[in-house]
Amino acid sequence: MLKLGGKVISITPVEEPATSKPLTPRIVQGNLLLPIVAGSRPVTEAVRRKSAYLLREGSAPTGYAHYFVLRRNAHGVLAATLDSPLTVLPDEFDYLDDGDIVRLNSERGDIRVLYRRNSPHNTILVTEQCQHYCLMCSQPPKNVDDSWLDDEAKELIRLMPRSTEVLGFTGGEPTLFGDRFLETLRLTKTLLPRTKVHILSNGRTFADRSFVKRYATIAHPDVTVGIPLYSDDAAIHDHIVQAKGAFDETVRGILNLKELGQKVEIRVVLHALSVGRLEQLATYITRNLLFADHVALMGLEITGFTRANLDDLWIDQFTYKDVLSRAVRIFDAYGMHVSVYNHQLCLVNDDIKGAYRRSISDWKNEYVDACVPCTRKHECGGFFSSAVQHKYSAHIRPF
Ligand code: SF4
Repeated sequence: MLKLGGKVISITPVEEPATSKPLTPRIVQGNLLLPIVAGSRPVTEAVRRKSAYLLREGSAPTGYAHYFVLRRNAHGVLAATLDSPLTVLPDEFDYLDDGDIVRLNSERGDIRVLYRRNSPHNTILVTEQCQHYCLMCSQPPKNVDDSWLDDEAKELIRLMPRSTEVLGFTGGEPTLFGDRFLETLRLTKTLLPRTKVHILSNGRTFADRSFVKRYATIAHPDVTVGIPLYSDDAAIHDHIVQAKGAFDETVRGILNLKELGQKVEIRVVLHALSVGRLEQLATYITRNLLFADHVALMGLEITGFTRANLDDLWIDQFTYKDVLSRAVRIFDAYGMHVSVYNHQLCLVNDDIKGAYRRSISDWKNEYVDACVPCTRKHECGGFFSSAVQHKYSAHIRPF
């Protein structure tokens, strides 16, 4: 598992910056947002003044807003010879590369990697607030004013390269900021016009038709809203998300979005409380929401609230593989685009092969020792790191 954030080892400040021109790093809520330059590509003076240089070997070029070095390369680097502060990072950050973007908080001495240029799994956390309290939430909501995250999102988008292929917005519930979030989406369309965008939302804000109209007016060329629906039974859905009335608003949100021609993905996390009615849910979706663009049937990630509720949520993927096959068949029969995410290949039947995807984000994707001799590992999506750490099926059998 890649370490995306944590404490730095040390930060050596510079009293009097030696550069003749002022440094111009982006600052949000006291955090520096720093694009990383590594290696010897030519960089303009203006870019240097807002970027950090990652020292690996050789001498440091001048004029950068900040310098980073890994602990193992830090010996022999004299902070006093640099014209800007030097931060020493734990060696786990050795994956950092040219074009990545980090958030550095010098006061707290912590760093967070916000963007990895070579990853297809970049997501922006828009807020940690949410009106749901899902039993398996991987990012437990916090009732705090974190609107600075929206400011950070906008700055981050300004720093991202136009070559960014895919970008996700997540929360919390990203749409809770209403028009502020729509501004962020509009900015993404303007600055990253070829980037495919995916928004993870509980869908309830889209029950407001005027909001959906404003969302649709942005006319983003490639944006999808991924909305969870956990049961055809409103009471079960509401229980899973711990919010009364959620099912009705979520379905209304999906209908409003599709009425205005917006792309919608329906996401179903599979666990002990949702698997029992998976076939009925598949039938409900095919009868009532057939126009949804994609259905994702997703394995459980054992993090956040899932760990606290694991006794209620855990079900071995092996035990529901026939139910999964039947649900996929229902979607197939109606011509719906369906995918199976976050499952191990040896725990699904061959008949869902067309829907099976390797989906777990690269930074939290692992395999277990039993996988070493497996001849189909290259086709298998593997495990969440959290599953390897806490719990996974007792039926892993290498091909
Ligand atoms: S043994 Fe491991 S790599 Fe092979 S299919 Fe199962 S989980 Fe995947």
